[in-house]
Amino acid sequence: TIGMLAMDSKGDLSGACTTSGLAYKMNGRVGDSPIIGAGLFVDNEIGGACATGLGELVMRTCGSFLVVELMRQGRSPQQACEEAALRIVKKQDYKEVQVGFLATNRQGEVGAYSIQPGFSYTVSRGGKTEVLEAKSFLG
Ligand code: ASP
Repeated sequence: TIGMLAMDSKGDLSGACTTSGLAYKMNGRVGDSPIIGAGLFVDNEIGGACATGLGELVMRTCGSFLVVELMRQGRSPQQACEEAALRIVKKQDYKEVQVGFLATNRQGEVGAYSIQPGFSYTVSRGGKTEVLEAKSFLG
């Protein structure tokens, strides 16, 4: 999955998400990416979030919507991504699965968190681009 969150020069937020889906998926499977609130959610008053990984787990928790709602309640993007991922970890045998969340808020703060290590993301601002690795539940 490629998820993107953007803020324009006026501070307005947008997002996009695209995926090839899971390898060996069943014919007709619809993953989380095209479902607003699962693979992607943006509320211009609060922030935006997108997800990657096993879409069924993201859909069950309305993952990107959850991240934005947690930011609405005052969490930073980082805290919101962590809390949403931990909600999945609590209910799921997480050893073999990956889910990662990426979020930004209206203040331009960015957060990312995944279950497995190896979730990298890029932050571009002011002409500078950094590739970062998200913190992860399994270190
Ligand atoms: N989230 C996608 C899906 O479940 C897969 C991915 O992130 O690569 O369809």
